Parts: sequence; structure tokens; C-alpha cells
Amino acid sequence: MSIPAPLTADWLKTEEYRELNFARRDLVINPAKACQPLGALVCALGFDGCLPFIHGSQGCAAYFRNSLSRHYREPISAVSDSMTEDAAVFGGQNNLIEGLRNAHTLYKPKMMAIFTTCMAEVIGDDIKAYLENARKQNALPEDFPVALAHTPSFKGSHITGYDNMLKGFLETLAEPRRHSTHLRLYVVPGFDPYPANLREYKRLLNYLGVTYTLMPDYSDVVDAPNTGEFKMFPGGTPFSALREALNASGYLFLQTYSTQASLKFVKNVQKIPTEAVPIPLGIRNTDRFLTTVADMTGRRIPAEITAERGRALDAATDAHPYLHGKRFALFGDPDILLGLTSFLLEMGGVPVHILSSNGSQAFAKEMEDLLHASPYGREGKVYVGKDLWHLRSLLLSEPVDMLLGDSHGKYAARDAGIPLVRVGFPVTDRVNVHRYPIVGYAGVINLISLIANTFLEDKDRNADEAHFELLR
Ligand code: SF4
Repeated sequence: MSIPAPLTADWLKTEEYRELNFARRDLVINPAKACQPLGALVCALGFDGCLPFIHGSQGCAAYFRNSLSRHYREPISAVSDSMTEDAAVFGGQNNLIEGLRNAHTLYKPKMMAIFTTCMAEVIGDDIKAYLENARKQNALPEDFPVALAHTPSFKGSHITGYDNMLKGFLETLAEPRRHSTHLRLYVVPGFDPYPANLREYKRLLNYLGVTYTLMPDYSDVVDAPNTGEFKMFPGGTPFSALREALNASGYLFLQTYSTQASLKFVKNVQKIPTEAVPIPLGIRNTDRFLTTVADMTGRRIPAEITAERGRALDAATDAHPYLHGKRFALFGDPDILLGLTSFLLEMGGVPVHILSSNGSQAFAKEMEDLLHASPYGREGKVYVGKDLWHLRSLLLSEPVDMLLGDSHGKYAARDAGIPLVRVGFPVTDRVNVHRYPIVGYAGVINLISLIANTFLEDKDRNADEAHFELLR
């Protein structure tokens, strides 16, 4: 059917088009996810002195570094062995060996993390054997620490890559578990695009007086102080802590969908006492995080944290009228969506469309259970494996008041005439978003303020003279 051009834009807003759009099978338009190696790179940045080494093409490496630099507005140190056509035919061993030799000589890292891109995975490169050959050819000292991960981009997403890399670190570089373990809790944040969140975890854990290691911790790497001097390796979880990682007294995972393989490895294979909680977004999830830490370590929640909780509740009460009953659409990674939805429900917000390009059926079920447990969640529908063009149809055919998600959502939000509050990864069109925590009680205040003030800003901007009020 041919449709006259001026009417096409209107037709794209119809139920009829939405149905056709959702029947689409062989085409993906703007999925809200990145590929596995990007997540592996983020994980590798979280270890002190670790140089991420991309076994694959330079274009992929440029994409990862570029995406991360745009989000964090920091230089992102990583190397690639620049596989090209000859490596695609004959295998990438020569590239890997030469690349390791150069990277080790030039940048003098304390360790490296090798992970793969599509090309290396399609031809089936055996990076473990290549690494052994590299050592035999003296490209690296025999005892130089190198973690390995296969991160095929045609499976999973950046959260899978983060997980595979973390498991690779544990499998390759941690010493075997001894019987006498030390009393140290290992806390795994999961794929978290906010360095401020990692700092918030450390602040709360310090208040609790817990002996812990946050792993991986890239807060100082992607948010380094400007001292006028470039440091290639400005911080991260120390190698000594990684080496002792399997002698932890326990593990606490603060996300579940971005840590599945690592969690299984420490819990089921290594038999280390392990707990997993939802990302501490909102009052309820933060309570759960803190009480789990307290239960695992025998520590008490101090009065300072209880006071913070009270202040967050006060902020929630003050902002409640501006969020209650508002309809929201959300998109992003599964863990952050679960946290955001829980937070919105606490505030009486109504999540209507929840879309995750990299969400699984298990995620959809967990989200539906969360929605059904609240009177405000009854309208919510979950869409997994869908993209931002699907989201556009949803916003245009079934309107909401606000969209929550990363910067890629701005086009659909503009077309729908609603504000976008930027949450998640990547945020490339606003500054310093990653410097404000959205987890913990401090995060509750930040999120509430961001959302409520965006509504109020809109109200002022659109008010006529008679309704342009000083009080809101
Ligand atoms: S999807 Fe494959 S080709 Fe594209 S950037 Fe990722 S690894 Fe490279």
C-alpha cells in the first residue's frame, strides 16, 4: 500500500503501524544495548594497572573507547591487536603475540585482560593457546598476569561481556581457595555506568565498618581527578585483592543479570557463601542491601545511615505529589530497570512501558512479579528483545508523561512530546550525570529531585501568564 508522504508521519503513530512494527522479525532498529567486548573493557578497567587488550579489529576498539569516552568524558586506555583481512583468513595468533609484546613494552601495565570481538570468535581463535605461545616466544614474562575471556558479540550484550570478563579474572588470576579464609566480604557492583554509585557503595560500607573489597572498581579510572598530569592507570581493585578473591568470607552481588556466570562460579563451583540483591535503587532495595551486608558481616547499621534514610523519606514525601500517578516509560539494562521500577512504584508512579533490548524471559517474569505486587504496577507491560523503534510506537500510540533511559531515547521522547530523564548508559548529551549516585539513600534524593524538577521545569516552560506561579 503506498501512503502519501505527508500522512506517513501520522500513520507511524497509529495502532495499525504499531502492530506491524511489533510483527517485525528480521530487522533491528536502534537496539538499546552494546556488544560484549564493551562490557569486558569496563570490567577490565576496574583492576589496578590492568591494560584491556582487544583481540580483534581496530574499528571495534575505537567504538568501545569512543562510546566510553563520550559517556565518562575521560580518556579510556585500551589496546587492540588490529586484526585485518589476513588475520581473518589465517587466524590472529601473530597479531596477538606482537600486540602483547608491544603493549607490555610500551605501557608497562601490571596485568592485562584479553577479550575477543566478533571476528576472532567467528574464526574460532584459541586465545588460551595463543597466550601460551606468546609466553614461549618471550612476548611476555612467564609469570605476567593475564586474564582471558571469550566475548562473542553476536550473543548477549555488554552486560554478558562484563560478566564473562569478571569470571575470566577469577578463573585465571585468583589463587585456589584455601580452607582458612580471611574475613573479607567481596562486593561486586555489576555493570554500573555511574562511578558515583561505586563510591556510594564504598561510603556506606565504610560507615558500616565492614572489611570489604569492591571488585571491579573503576570509579577512579573513569572519573579521575584533573591534576594536569595524565595517569594511565589511576586506580582500581588491587591485584593482591584479586589474587585472594576466592578466599573471601562471602560475596555480595549488587546486580543479578550482569553477573550471572560470575555468581554461579563463586557460589556453585567455589562454594563461597554468596548473596545477590537487586541494585539498591529506592528505599526498599537500599534497605535490603544494607541489611544483607549487616547479616553477612554481623555489623550494625549505624545511626548516621538511619538518619540518611530519614532524610530520603522526607525528600520522597516532599516530592510525592509531583510523581504520584504520573505515567512512565523506561528502557535499559535489566538490573537498572528492576531498580528504577521498584523506586517508581514506591513513589506512586505508574510504569507503563518497560523495554529491555537485552532482557531475558527470566527478567520479564521478575519484572512482572514486581509490577503485580503493587497497585501502581497493574498497567505495566514488559518488552524484552525489542528496540527503540518499538519503543517509539509505544510512546506514540499509548502516551506517557516521561521517558527514563539513556541518551538514545531523546528522539522518541521528542517525537512523543515528553521529557527524557537520562538514566543508564550511555549518557552523551548531558554533563556529569555519572557523578551523582542513584543508589543508596543519597541516590533516592538525587533521582526524586531529577524527575520531579524535570516535571516542574516543563510546567513552568509551558505555563501561560495566568498560571506562571512562584509556588509549585
Ligand atoms: S558487534 Fe562485533 S564488529 Fe561490532 S563493534 Fe562489537 S565486536 Fe566489533
